[in-house]
Amino acid sequence: MNPLAAALVTPLAGRQEPLLFGPDASMIDGATLHEISGQAANALTTLGVQPGDRVAMQAEKSLMALALYLACLRAGAVFLPLNTAYTAVEMEYFVLDATPRVMVVDPTAEAALRPVAESHCATFLTLDASGEGSFAKQVRASSPAFGTVPRAEEDLAVILYTSGTTGRPKGAMLTHRNLLSNADALVETWRFTEQDVLLHALPIYHAHGLFVATNVILRTGGAMIFLPRFDVDQIISHLPRATAMMGVPTFYTRLLGDPRLDRELARHMRVFISGSAPLLAETHRAFEARTGHRIIERYGMTETSMNTSNPYEGERRAGAVGFPLPGVEARITDPETGTGLPRSEIGMLEVRGPNVFRGYWGMPEKTKEEFRPDGFFITGDLARTDPDGYIHIVGRARDLVISGGFNVYPKEVEIEIDALDGIIESAVFGIHHPDFGEGVVAVAVRAPGSSISEAEVIAALADRLAKFKQPKRLLFVKELPRNAMGKVQKNLLRDRYGGLFAE
Ligand code: AMP
Repeated sequence: MNPLAAALVTPLAGRQEPLLFGPDASMIDGATLHEISGQAANALTTLGVQPGDRVAMQAEKSLMALALYLACLRAGAVFLPLNTAYTAVEMEYFVLDATPRVMVVDPTAEAALRPVAESHCATFLTLDASGEGSFAKQVRASSPAFGTVPRAEEDLAVILYTSGTTGRPKGAMLTHRNLLSNADALVETWRFTEQDVLLHALPIYHAHGLFVATNVILRTGGAMIFLPRFDVDQIISHLPRATAMMGVPTFYTRLLGDPRLDRELARHMRVFISGSAPLLAETHRAFEARTGHRIIERYGMTETSMNTSNPYEGERRAGAVGFPLPGVEARITDPETGTGLPRSEIGMLEVRGPNVFRGYWGMPEKTKEEFRPDGFFITGDLARTDPDGYIHIVGRARDLVISGGFNVYPKEVEIEIDALDGIIESAVFGIHHPDFGEGVVAVAVRAPGSSISEAEVIAALADRLAKFKQPKRLLFVKELPRNAMGKVQKNLLRDRYGGLFAE
């Protein structure tokens, strides 16, 4: 058996229905992708790839890139997708750490990366944004007939490096069971069927675009409109043909910034889903007012794929990430001791289930530290449960600010700032303070036309937040620094403003 290939790739054989629509309305059916995956699997095998070998890809999103993922599953190799933003220096770390047998990279990075690959004995091939390059050539020269290699549920399917805003990125080892159980849980929770057409504008080097989006569609036999990246015009032109969209919060705020987004445009849509970073409650409400759709917010991470989601039926609560997915257990504990906390108290979110990864590649000690003895994984996210059982993510534990010995959860402060007239959004973080250890600092984005001042914001918070939670400084910025997945990069803010309270 080969659980993922059997669930995601084998059913494509002979399927004449459209599977992938390109941005130009070009179409590929399931049978064609199945054949290309066989050719790509043969190409990998010819290059010497054995079951368990890692195959790294740093390439733009294309049909051929998707075929490489499926080929790795069929050949029993471990797919290693890498963020296209990584530099040659960063890539060297991944190559050293994961020792891939084959590296498929964009031709623009060839000069910088070929020596890295060759000095580490990896075969080096290219793949460009249009799906061409030496890898594509090898694929086309190979036979489509390929006998899928057997794999067990606990075998590795993918290594995905965590985005690593602190320390070195860690390679999360995901098994066939992890990915398949999560695809099944999401199909069930969000009611995906073969009738669905998913608007896919996410990158495929991240769990969101690769597993949440792609695996769910492959699992159900639906179709995808496979866009190279998020572009408002493209989304607006394809929405009338789609039934579902998955996006990071910035997709939704950008769409809201376009007057063409309205009920009529979203009439054909069945569901909008958001995750990878917190969706502002305001965005949730504004999106409903404009389109009539309540976005389903869900929560997950590289190590676990998805853990919780708002319900499909029942209230999709703004600002909450919903309930544990089928088969997933979640609990909130005292971060120090791991003992359970009463409902509504903020603590460490821990999860257990078939979705939880096997550990960090080559880091058994680090892996051990992140698990409780009873198998719960310590997510590093602080959360609370509301009286109806909805989970709310309060932020990363490492973003917790301890000012004068008191805990300040940035989210609590951000919610208050964001609610003020004249403010669009904010980010709160702690930096070294000579008296308090850490001092609370906020940066905020003003609404167009607003001239609200630092003193006015701080005054407005005075009777809403305890003194120790109030920002000692508030600075205005044009926009918050975000990574490709829409996450606010607080590490950059801490670096930039770290000297604000210098003695
Ligand atoms: P990554 O491993 O890059 O997918 O990042 C996972 C992290 O993103 C989680 O640990 C959370 O801190 C954050 N995250 C993902 N989804 C949400 C969400 N819906 N709300 C708040 N934070 C989220």
